[in-house]
Parts: sequence; structure tokens; C-alpha cells
Amino acid sequence: MTDRLRVYELLFEQHGPQGWWPSESPFETMVGAVLTQRTAWANAARAIDGLRAARLLAPQRMRAEPVESLAARIRASGFFRTKARKLHALCGFLSRYGDDVARLRAAGAARLRAELLAVHGIGPETADAIMLYAVGAPTFVVDAYARRIFSRLGEPSAGAGYARFQAWLLDGLPADTELLGEYHALLVRHARTVCVARQPRCERCALRRRCANAGRTQPIRPTDTRAACRRTGPGRRPHRARCRVRG
Ligand code: SF4
Repeated sequence: MTDRLRVYELLFEQHGPQGWWPSESPFETMVGAVLTQRTAWANAARAIDGLRAARLLAPQRMRAEPVESLAARIRASGFFRTKARKLHALCGFLSRYGDDVARLRAAGAARLRAELLAVHGIGPETADAIMLYAVGAPTFVVDAYARRIFSRLGEPSAGAGYARFQAWLLDGLPADTELLGEYHALLVRHARTVCVARQPRCERCALRRRCANAGRTQPIRPTDTRAACRRTGPGRRPHRARCRVRG
């Protein structure tokens, strides 16, 4: 079984602190978690800059902004009409807590995560990013990068569903918000610069002595990620029977 803490230590030695999440307030972090869905962070950051310039990075002001106008402000993030509706839904949710992060924290992690998942446009990955980086709850953000790295390391849990893979990750780590936030950022950095999708740069990888796939250059199979499942498209049969990641 992969030593999750040792993987963290090796990644930290290789890449150093990542300084996530880059934001000026918990609300800005929440907004960023929505805006970065299905796009690169650079695009989300440009959209956030636009919101800041328009003085909309406050829940009460964003709530008062019409969806069409909000969408125009976040055009840089892509899917801007959908994301504007999601942001409005998020702001509506926050109003139930008086826009107060301290009250969110006081609600308790399990209840708050369940409530976030009921908000339009917030799935497990976004909810956990909000929980970890905005609320300060010790959880793990599971994404395709974490799956890629741990599956290449030879860890069978990387092929499990979201909740099971997350539980396995958390089981091997201290409940330390700072460490968990750094860990997610390090996995993203490593997957983008070293353990890339095609032809990973194993000779530069701090994990190579622990990796079942070190030195192999084949891309991972398309059935290894949920993103691939989504690529089957509407109306087409998903490949559940042979899918390694179905939970
Ligand atoms: S040794 Fe290669 S395949 Fe394994 S984690 Fe590192 S870069 Fe990825």
C-alpha cells in the first residue's frame, strides 16, 4: 500500500510550498472554486480580477448583480452563463449563514458538505475545495491529477469512486488542514510538470523509486478517469462494465 505521507514529503521536497489557495478572502476562494471548473486556473484568475475591479467579490453585492451582468464579468472563465447561475446559487446558500464563514464552520463539516452538495453546480470536488481552502476543514480534494499519480504509483484505491478514494487518502494522513491543502496543490503541480498525461518525465520524478510505472511512456488508458466516462457523451452508453473507476 502506498505510504501517502511519504509521497507528500517527497513531493514537497521536489516542488516546495505551493502557496495555495491564492485569494484575499474565503469568499474569493469559494468563487475561485466555481470559476476554475472545467478551465485552467489562469482563466479563472482573470475572471476574478474582473469581479474585483467591479467590486463584486462580496456575497451581498454578487447576489444583487443580475445573472446576465455577472456572466459578462466572468466571461474569461468559460461556461460563463452556467457559472454565473452557480455563483448566484452559492451566494443564496451563504445568505442562510449570514455570509459569515465563522457560522459556516460552526455548522460542522459533515452537515456543511452535505448542504454544499445540494447547491446548484457544486459537486464533490468543488465542495471539498471550499471545505478545505475557504472553511478550513481537514479534507482531501480528489481530482484527476491525484488519480493519475496514485494509479501510476500502483495504488488500487485510485480506481475507486470519489468517496472511497478520498477516505483512503485521509486514512493515511494527519487531519492537518495546512498539510492537506499543500498536498492537493503539490499533486496538481506534479501532474502538470512531471507526471504529465503523455510521456511522464520519470527521470525527474521524486516518486520514481516507489512507482510501479516508472520509465513507462504510455499514456494511461482512457478508461482510467471519470473524465473519460463523461466523454462517452449524452445518449451514448457509458463503458461501465469495463470501467476501473466506477464506485
Ligand atoms: S515515476 Fe513517472 S509515472 Fe511514476 S509518478 Fe513519477 S512521473 Fe509519474
